[in-house]
Amino acid sequence: MSTWPIGVFTSVDAGLGVKLEVVKELGIPTIQLHAPHRATRTAKCAEEFTKTLDQLGVELTCVFGGFDGESYADIPTVVRTVGLVPADTRAVRLQEMKEIADFARLLNCDVVALHLGFVPHDTNTREYADVVEVTRQLCDHAARNEQAVHLETGQETAPALVQFIKDTERKNLFVNFDPANMILYGTGNPIEAVQYLGSYVRSIHCKDGTWSSQPGVTWGCEVPLGQGDVNMELYLQTLWNIGYRGPLTIEREIPQEPERQKAEIGGAVNLLTSLRKKIAGC
Ligand code: MG
Repeated sequence: MSTWPIGVFTSVDAGLGVKLEVVKELGIPTIQLHAPHRATRTAKCAEEFTKTLDQLGVELTCVFGGFDGESYADIPTVVRTVGLVPADTRAVRLQEMKEIADFARLLNCDVVALHLGFVPHDTNTREYADVVEVTRQLCDHAARNEQAVHLETGQETAPALVQFIKDTERKNLFVNFDPANMILYGTGNPIEAVQYLGSYVRSIHCKDGTWSSQPGVTWGCEVPLGQGDVNMELYLQTLWNIGYRGPLTIEREIPQEPERQKAEIGGAVNLLTSLRKKIAGC
């Protein structure tokens, strides 16, 4: 893979990413994929999707898991509903995430990612130990598929995330870094977080946002790339400095406005292409 290929977060029939038509139209060479619904996660669908990607010359770099019943309506709702943290859905979702990893394997993809949910802050609690345990089980399943698991950032501070990864004690557990999420959730300065996470950063999102007036209590606001508080040039320079050379995957989740979504992703491609030239010289 070339240095810093542009990418975009896509969806087939679930999730909020763009459709493959947009990828084709904008000539984007890599994608992350939100896992489709269970009925679509078949060997036949995997074969057809792989063929389509081959025809387009597009490389799939990561499959993202998501679950029925998750809601990002506000921060307390995320705490209650997202990922493998909520106890009452944990076992069912672990099973589904294993199936998503198996589907990713059929797509020849060696990375699966997810929002794990709000990891309990007190590392001495039973709940924290339970979340560590479920993550181990997911990592062990992925390892049997020769896959890595990437945790989406946002819900934890960088030090809390590193502590959690160390406590999990698995060699295939890394980070999908999303700078906007650090701002939207109010969990820390994204540039400092990239530096802190360093080599744990194995995939990234290019997304922008503005701080809330009450960080950590109410959402910040997601905005087009380059118009928020991330500072894209400094973000990419910092990624360069820590040695990250993987895809620059644009995430812009406004599927209810497909024309605006496409236009803004086109703008993001231009911005990232010019910054790549400036920083990486390619
Ligand atoms: Mg993201």
